[in-house]
Amino acid sequence: MLITPDQRTALESLIAVAARGRALRHEHDNPKQAEQLQELVNSHKELGTRKAEAAEVVEGHRGAVAETNALIEKQKTQIAKKTEELNDGTGLTSRDLVNLQNEIAAHEERVGELEEIELGSMEELEAAEAGLADVDRRLDEVTAEGRSVQTAVKERKAELSGELEDNSAEAEKLREQLPTAVASQFDTNIAQGGPGAAILTGPNCQACGQEIGAATWKTMLAGDANETYECEECEAVLLRRS
Ligand SMILES: [Zn+2]
Repeated sequence: MLITPDQRTALESLIAVAARGRALRHEHDNPKQAEQLQELVNSHKELGTRKAEAAEVVEGHRGAVAETNALIEKQKTQIAKKTEELNDGTGLTSRDLVNLQNEIAAHEERVGELEEIELGSMEELEAAEAGLADVDRRLDEVTAEGRSVQTAVKERKAELSGELEDNSAEAEKLREQLPTAVASQFDTNIAQGGPGAAILTGPNCQACGQEIGAATWKTMLAGDANETYECEECEAVLLRRS
Protein backbone atom coordinates (compact mmCIF):
# COMPACT_ATOMS: atom_id res chain seq x y z
CA MET A 1 0.00 0.00 0.00
CA LEU A 2 1.37 3.40 -0.93
CA ILE A 3 1.68 5.77 1.99
CA THR A 4 2.44 9.50 2.08
CA PRO A 5 5.86 10.84 3.13
CA ASP A 6 4.30 12.00 6.42
CA GLN A 7 2.90 8.53 7.02
CA ARG A 8 6.29 7.08 6.24
CA THR A 9 7.89 9.39 8.83
CA ALA A 10 5.23 8.31 11.34
CA LEU A 11 5.85 4.63 10.57
CA GLU A 12 9.63 5.01 10.93
CA SER A 13 9.13 6.78 14.26
CA LEU A 14 6.66 4.10 15.33
CA ILE A 15 9.24 1.38 14.61
CA ALA A 16 11.79 3.20 16.81
CA VAL A 17 9.24 3.92 19.57
CA ALA A 18 8.04 0.30 19.56
CA ALA A 19 11.66 -0.95 19.81
CA ARG A 20 12.22 1.35 22.77
CA GLY A 21 9.00 0.04 24.32
CA ARG A 22 10.20 -3.56 23.96
CA ALA A 23 13.50 -2.68 25.65
CA LEU A 24 11.63 -0.97 28.49
CA ARG A 25 9.29 -3.94 28.87
CA HIS A 26 12.22 -6.35 28.92
CA GLU A 27 14.00 -4.39 31.64
CA HIS A 28 10.75 -4.07 33.59
CA ASP A 29 10.20 -7.83 33.49
CA ASN A 30 13.90 -8.72 34.01
CA PRO A 31 15.25 -6.26 36.60
CA LYS A 32 18.99 -5.71 36.25
CA GLN A 33 19.48 -6.30 39.98
CA ALA A 34 17.45 -9.50 40.09
CA GLU A 35 20.59 -11.65 40.17
CA GLN A 36 22.11 -9.58 42.96
CA LEU A 37 18.87 -9.84 44.89
CA GLN A 38 18.81 -13.62 44.43
CA GLU A 39 22.41 -13.85 45.71
CA LEU A 40 21.42 -11.85 48.78
CA VAL A 41 18.43 -14.11 49.37
CA ASN A 42 20.76 -17.13 49.16
CA SER A 43 23.27 -15.53 51.56
CA HIS A 44 20.47 -14.69 53.95
CA LYS A 45 19.30 -18.29 53.95
CA GLU A 46 22.82 -19.64 54.46
CA LEU A 47 23.53 -17.19 57.28
CA GLY A 48 20.24 -18.15 58.90
CA THR A 49 21.38 -21.78 58.98
CA ARG A 50 24.79 -20.77 60.33
CA LYS A 51 23.15 -18.63 62.99
CA ALA A 52 21.06 -21.58 64.18
CA GLU A 53 24.20 -23.75 64.30
CA ALA A 54 26.20 -21.08 66.15
CA ALA A 55 23.35 -20.60 68.64
CA GLU A 56 23.32 -24.33 69.29
CA VAL A 57 27.07 -24.30 69.98
CA VAL A 58 26.60 -21.38 72.40
CA GLU A 59 23.82 -23.25 74.18
CA GLY A 60 26.09 -26.31 74.49
CA HIS A 61 28.84 -24.29 76.17
CA ARG A 62 26.35 -22.53 78.44
CA GLY A 63 25.07 -25.93 79.49
CA ALA A 64 28.62 -27.14 80.22
CA VAL A 65 29.35 -24.06 82.34
CA ALA A 66 26.10 -24.49 84.29
CA GLU A 67 26.80 -28.19 84.82
CA THR A 68 30.31 -27.51 86.14
CA ASN A 69 28.92 -24.75 88.34
CA ALA A 70 26.44 -27.17 89.87
CA LEU A 71 29.27 -29.63 90.57
CA ILE A 72 31.31 -26.87 92.24
CA GLU A 73 28.31 -25.91 94.39
CA LYS A 74 27.90 -29.53 95.47
CA GLN A 75 31.55 -29.69 96.51
CA LYS A 76 31.23 -26.39 98.38
CA THR A 77 28.16 -27.66 100.23
CA GLN A 78 30.19 -30.68 101.31
CA ILE A 79 33.06 -28.45 102.43
CA ALA A 80 30.69 -26.25 104.47
CA LYS A 81 29.02 -29.26 106.04
CA LYS A 82 32.31 -30.94 106.96
CA THR A 83 33.87 -27.68 108.17
CA GLU A 84 30.93 -27.27 110.50
CA GLU A 85 31.34 -30.83 111.79
CA LEU A 86 35.03 -30.20 112.28
CA ASN A 87 34.48 -26.92 114.14
CA ASP A 88 31.80 -28.48 116.30
CA GLY A 89 33.97 -31.51 117.08
CA THR A 90 31.31 -33.15 119.28
CA GLY A 91 32.01 -36.86 119.77
CA LEU A 92 34.86 -36.91 117.26
CA THR A 93 38.09 -38.75 117.86
CA SER A 94 41.34 -37.17 116.74
CA ARG A 95 41.35 -39.77 113.94
CA ASP A 96 37.88 -38.50 112.81
CA LEU A 97 39.20 -34.97 112.86
CA VAL A 98 42.12 -35.87 110.64
CA ASN A 99 39.82 -37.77 108.30
CA LEU A 100 37.47 -34.78 108.07
CA GLN A 101 40.40 -32.48 107.35
CA ASN A 102 41.57 -34.82 104.61
CA GLU A 103 38.07 -35.02 103.12
CA ILE A 104 37.76 -31.23 103.14
CA ALA A 105 41.14 -30.93 101.43
CA ALA A 106 40.04 -33.46 98.78
CA HIS A 107 36.83 -31.50 98.14
CA GLU A 108 38.86 -28.29 97.86
CA GLU A 109 41.17 -29.93 95.38
CA ARG A 110 38.16 -31.09 93.34
CA VAL A 111 36.77 -27.53 93.42
CA GLY A 112 40.09 -26.30 92.05
CA GLU A 113 39.94 -28.85 89.22
CA LEU A 114 36.32 -27.99 88.42
CA GLU A 115 37.11 -24.28 88.39
CA GLU A 116 39.86 -24.97 85.85
CA ILE A 117 37.35 -26.87 83.71
CA GLU A 118 34.80 -24.10 84.12
CA LEU A 119 37.34 -21.50 83.05
CA GLY A 120 37.99 -23.48 79.87
CA SER A 121 34.27 -23.83 79.18
CA MET A 122 33.77 -20.11 79.73
CA GLU A 123 36.53 -19.30 77.25
CA GLU A 124 34.90 -21.59 74.72
CA LEU A 125 31.53 -20.00 75.46
CA GLU A 126 32.98 -16.54 74.91
CA ALA A 127 34.46 -17.58 71.55
CA ALA A 128 31.16 -19.19 70.52
CA GLU A 129 29.23 -16.07 71.51
CA ALA A 130 31.62 -13.93 69.48
CA GLY A 131 31.03 -16.27 66.52
CA LEU A 132 27.28 -15.98 66.94
CA ALA A 133 27.50 -12.17 67.17
CA ASP A 134 29.56 -12.17 63.97
CA VAL A 135 26.96 -14.24 62.08
CA ASP A 136 24.24 -11.97 63.49
CA ARG A 137 26.04 -8.85 62.31
CA ARG A 138 26.48 -10.28 58.81
CA LEU A 139 22.87 -11.35 58.74
CA ASP A 140 21.86 -7.77 59.59
CA GLU A 141 24.11 -6.45 56.82
CA VAL A 142 22.67 -8.84 54.23
CA THR A 143 19.12 -8.03 55.36
CA ALA A 144 19.77 -4.30 55.04
CA GLU A 145 21.42 -4.71 51.64
CA GLY A 146 18.56 -6.93 50.47
CA ARG A 147 16.04 -4.31 51.52
CA SER A 148 17.91 -1.56 49.72
CA VAL A 149 18.26 -3.59 46.50
CA GLN A 150 14.59 -4.54 46.72
CA THR A 151 13.66 -0.87 47.07
CA ALA A 152 15.89 0.05 44.13
CA VAL A 153 14.27 -2.66 41.98
CA LYS A 154 10.81 -1.46 43.00
CA GLU A 155 11.64 2.17 42.27
CA ARG A 156 13.15 1.31 38.89
CA LYS A 157 10.07 -0.76 38.03
CA ALA A 158 7.80 2.15 38.90
CA GLU A 159 9.97 4.44 36.79
CA LEU A 160 9.84 1.97 33.89
CA SER A 161 6.06 1.64 34.24
CA GLY A 162 5.81 5.40 33.83
CA GLU A 163 8.11 5.33 30.81
CA LEU A 164 6.11 2.46 29.32
CA GLU A 165 2.92 4.47 29.65
CA ASP A 166 4.50 7.44 27.89
CA ASN A 167 5.89 5.09 25.26
CA SER A 168 2.46 3.53 24.60
CA ALA A 169 0.87 6.97 24.29
CA GLU A 170 3.57 8.05 21.87
CA ALA A 171 3.20 4.84 19.83
CA GLU A 172 -0.58 5.27 19.76
CA LYS A 173 -0.25 8.83 18.42
CA LEU A 174 2.03 7.63 15.62
CA ARG A 175 -0.17 4.65 14.88
CA GLU A 176 -3.17 6.93 14.43
CA GLN A 177 -1.34 8.69 11.62
CA LEU A 178 -1.13 5.47 9.59
CA PRO A 179 -3.76 4.20 7.12
CA THR A 180 -6.13 1.84 8.92
CA ALA A 181 -5.01 -1.18 6.90
CA VAL A 182 -1.32 -0.59 7.74
CA ALA A 183 -2.13 0.08 11.41
CA SER A 184 -4.12 -3.15 11.75
CA GLN A 185 -1.38 -5.11 9.95
CA PHE A 186 1.08 -3.59 12.44
CA ASP A 187 -1.16 -4.68 15.33
CA THR A 188 -1.48 -8.22 13.97
CA ASN A 189 2.29 -8.67 13.91
CA ILE A 190 2.65 -7.14 17.40
CA ALA A 191 0.00 -9.55 18.68
CA GLN A 192 2.13 -12.40 17.33
CA GLY A 193 5.11 -11.13 19.31
CA GLY A 194 6.73 -9.32 16.39
CA PRO A 195 7.94 -5.73 16.11
CA GLY A 196 4.90 -4.71 14.02
CA ALA A 197 6.89 -3.21 11.20
CA ALA A 198 10.43 -3.15 9.88
CA ILE A 199 12.56 -1.29 7.41
CA LEU A 200 14.12 -3.58 4.84
CA THR A 201 17.89 -3.37 4.50
CA GLY A 202 18.05 -6.28 2.08
CA PRO A 203 15.93 -9.15 0.73
CA ASN A 204 15.08 -10.50 4.19
CA CYS A 205 12.19 -9.57 6.46
CA GLN A 206 13.77 -7.59 9.30
CA ALA A 207 10.98 -8.74 11.57
CA CYS A 208 11.23 -12.51 11.19
CA GLY A 209 14.26 -13.11 8.97
CA GLN A 210 12.24 -14.74 6.19
CA GLU A 211 13.93 -14.41 2.81
CA ILE A 212 12.05 -12.35 0.26
CA GLY A 213 11.87 -14.02 -3.16
CA ALA A 214 14.07 -12.54 -5.87
CA ALA A 215 11.09 -11.59 -8.03
CA THR A 216 9.26 -9.88 -5.16
CA TRP A 217 12.42 -8.10 -4.12
CA LYS A 218 12.93 -6.88 -7.67
CA THR A 219 9.36 -5.55 -7.72
CA MET A 220 9.92 -3.82 -4.39
CA LEU A 221 13.07 -2.13 -5.62
CA ALA A 222 11.32 -0.98 -8.77
CA GLY A 223 8.29 0.34 -6.86
CA ASP A 224 7.81 3.55 -4.90
CA ALA A 225 9.92 3.69 -1.73
CA ASN A 226 6.77 4.60 0.21
CA GLU A 227 5.01 1.40 -0.83
CA THR A 228 4.44 -0.87 2.18
CA TYR A 229 4.44 -4.64 1.94
CA GLU A 230 3.28 -7.46 4.14
CA CYS A 231 5.73 -10.18 5.06
CA GLU A 232 4.34 -13.46 3.75
CA GLU A 233 5.70 -15.23 6.79
CA CYS A 234 4.99 -12.98 9.77
CA GLU A 235 2.66 -10.38 8.25
CA ALA A 236 4.81 -7.50 9.49
CA VAL A 237 4.55 -4.20 7.69
CA LEU A 238 7.64 -3.87 5.54
CA LEU A 239 9.00 -0.71 4.04
CA ARG A 240 12.17 -0.45 2.05
CA ARG A 241 14.78 2.14 2.78
CA SER A 242 14.19 5.44 1.02
ZN1 LIG B 1 8.52 -11.49 8.42
